[in-house]
Amino acid sequence: MKRNENRKYAYINGTVYTGRLNDAGRMEKLVRPVILTEEGRITAIGDRHTDLFGYEIVDLEGRWMMPGLINLHVHLPASGKPKARPEDPKETVRKIRRIPGGMTMARRICEEAAKTELFSGVTTIRTVGGLDDLDSRIRDRIQRGKLEGPRILAGNMAVSVPGGHMAGSLAYEALSAEDARRFTGMIAESGADLIKLMITGGVLDAEKEGEPGVLRMPPDYVRAACEEAHRRGLPVSAHVESPEGVKTALRNGVDTIEHGAMPDEEMMALFRETGASFVTTISPAVPYALFDRSVSRATRTQQVNGRVVLEGCIALTRACAENGIRMGLGTDTGCPFVTHYGIWRELAHLRNFCGLEPDRILHMATLGNAEIAGIGDLTGSIETGKAADMVITSADPLRDFRALGDPALVVSRGELFDHPKVKRFKVVEEVLDRFMEQGRA
Ligand SMILES: [Zn+2]
Repeated sequence: MKRNENRKYAYINGTVYTGRLNDAGRMEKLVRPVILTEEGRITAIGDRHTDLFGYEIVDLEGRWMMPGLINLHVHLPASGKPKARPEDPKETVRKIRRIPGGMTMARRICEEAAKTELFSGVTTIRTVGGLDDLDSRIRDRIQRGKLEGPRILAGNMAVSVPGGHMAGSLAYEALSAEDARRFTGMIAESGADLIKLMITGGVLDAEKEGEPGVLRMPPDYVRAACEEAHRRGLPVSAHVESPEGVKTALRNGVDTIEHGAMPDEEMMALFRETGASFVTTISPAVPYALFDRSVSRATRTQQVNGRVVLEGCIALTRACAENGIRMGLGTDTGCPFVTHYGIWRELAHLRNFCGLEPDRILHMATLGNAEIAGIGDLTGSIETGKAADMVITSADPLRDFRALGDPALVVSRGELFDHPKVKRFKVVEEVLDRFMEQGRA
């Protein structure tokens, strides 16, 4: 492991996927180009005649290079390792605040999670629900070179309502539209890059079978929060898991719909009119919906609701693909069985469950996600002038996304991480691998 972002590098002998799609929808591919980087940026893309004087050569030996991956839906405070017993998140956070050193411990857990994302090839994350202002503080420490980690677009705390999703743990509880506006202002002042709203419930806090995404936040709260965020130049992302929730979000100013729900004509028309994007997350719904309950430890209601969410997410993913709605992806890391090192599984799910072409999925995970996050001119593709954010794999990721599970090299803003190692949860990996190979867990 080394920190050499200021040296000049020439990457040679690789097959490069640039992150861009050509007119036929195929990933743009460069065969054995020379990629030059300096001070954290890609300075030139040349051929074998390029003058390499003064450059340190990085011989890729026939490996594959693509832009660093981008994960648009991350929660840093949890690892994805399933809990032995169900926990009340509000109580857990209360405990963290109460015990001496609790917040320091929480910060270390979040820092480790961020580093794990980077070491698994993710060079940018967008956090959408965290503890206090930890996300933005960690972002700044990484930027100053104090910590190893990805570029972070920080959501910090989210806004919810009493009894709503993550209320009182990773989200404030707004009691009125004015409250929603005030909390949005507070989150912006804490250093956030975006605002996250919890508009509907989720699988874990659903009370009834068949109603995982019951609308909890009144439309005028959503509108007030969006107005305040936009006034301050921040985008708004929203957790929504029912058709009513998606429509409420779209009608009141939300920029990115997270998770989603069963689409209909009206919903697709709203996407088109507003220009909002969809951020699909298959990974968190799969265990609840499809694993044996002895493995997922889900209740019957959670399993039924998990299936509703999974079906909605798959159907909306397909509908957005067919209708040309801008779509990105995230993993929802922190949910049970969704680890900070497993983004390749989300890519595989999109292929297996939604039938998307691998080229398109890899584009979503790179340039597509960058554009949705508003940083498409900074990262997301291998192009002159962009950040030197790259991941190098020993096998072709378009043949099998598993190749991304163990990168040979990760380059983050010019800094090289050779064969970075992450801590894996053996049991989680066994369960997920068995599910992917045999369709059961
Ligand atoms: Zn989430």
